[in-house]
Amino acid sequence: MTSNMLNPAITSKNGEKVLILGPCSAESPDQLHELAKRSVHLKPHLIRAGIWKPRTRPGHFQGMGEQAIPWLMEIKKEYGLKICTEVANSHHVEVALKAGFDTLWIGARTTVNPFYVQDISDALKGVDIPVMVKNPLNPDLYLWLGAIERFLQSGINRLAAIHRGFSFYGNSIYRNTPRWQIPIELKRRIPDLQMLVDISHISGHPEHLLEIAQIAYDLNYDGIMVEVHPEPQNALSDAEQQVTPEFLEKEILDKLIYREVSTNDVQFNLQIDEIRNKIDQIDDDLLKLLAKRMQLVEQIGLEKKQSRISIFQPKRWDEIITRLVEFGKHENLSEEFIFNLIEAIHIESIQHQSQKMNK
Ligand code: PEP
Ligand code: MN
Repeated sequence: MTSNMLNPAITSKNGEKVLILGPCSAESPDQLHELAKRSVHLKPHLIRAGIWKPRTRPGHFQGMGEQAIPWLMEIKKEYGLKICTEVANSHHVEVALKAGFDTLWIGARTTVNPFYVQDISDALKGVDIPVMVKNPLNPDLYLWLGAIERFLQSGINRLAAIHRGFSFYGNSIYRNTPRWQIPIELKRRIPDLQMLVDISHISGHPEHLLEIAQIAYDLNYDGIMVEVHPEPQNALSDAEQQVTPEFLEKEILDKLIYREVSTNDVQFNLQIDEIRNKIDQIDDDLLKLLAKRMQLVEQIGLEKKQSRISIFQPKRWDEIITRLVEFGKHENLSEEFIFNLIEAIHIESIQHQSQKMNK
């Protein structure tokens, strides 16, 4: 697809990183004034605040709704800030446009549903407002891409994607697992797309915010969104992950290291090229070895076919995983990496055997 006419949702001067901060939810005029007063010197490009909150379970705080709009418009005027909020249906769009929000965002629970996305993008036809699209809850590149395409089709040409991590079931140190390769692929397909990271919804806890923000910077993201509240401990939603403006400044922004995408330093580039050539050679060798492995797998497939033995052998699979995870430990390779790698090889092996056996 073409991305003519695609502009960033948020313009920043001289390639400066975008900063979007604000509470998970708008809660009261005082909360918003306090937040604005204590963070205006950080020069945020946008203040975020949810007014309609998509809560996973009923009975939780659902946001203040339309009554919060004048509170937000007041800090916009008083502090010269720009304001954005989440819209999840065409009614929200109508209200938000009338109210004068500067930018809208689409939440993860909405991106996941093409009916809602279409409804929202239809409501935005002919309107010139920037839209930021969070990734869907599940790691599906096409739902994310499809949502962005729907907005492009509606004539929205100031767009950004926000990586906020993906839902999963089980234990993880993060609230929503970042899967950096999915936004990398999105950016490969739409090179002009502005890319942001919502460090709060990935981290789920202040402790990981800096680390996620630094990864975002190192992967050339255009900026971050972060949940900031004047009194995080009393927040009505997402209290565990919100931080004060002072924490944001001292513990995150002051510590983030900004790195350039490239350099003209000849010596550096020569050195890097030399190492990259070696890496390319290793990648070639890895693929050749994998192809050899597949040939052996196919041989086993033929044997299994003759003896009417099933492809999947749980005991053997368990042995492989256990052995390689142990092996990986000694080579300083993480268990998660070894598991994902060997799983991918296993799936390919099953396909090769299946082809041989069911031909
Ligand atoms: C939010 O930004 O407060 C929110 C609900 O985010 P997400 O859609 O990423 O869950
Ligand atoms: Mn939140």
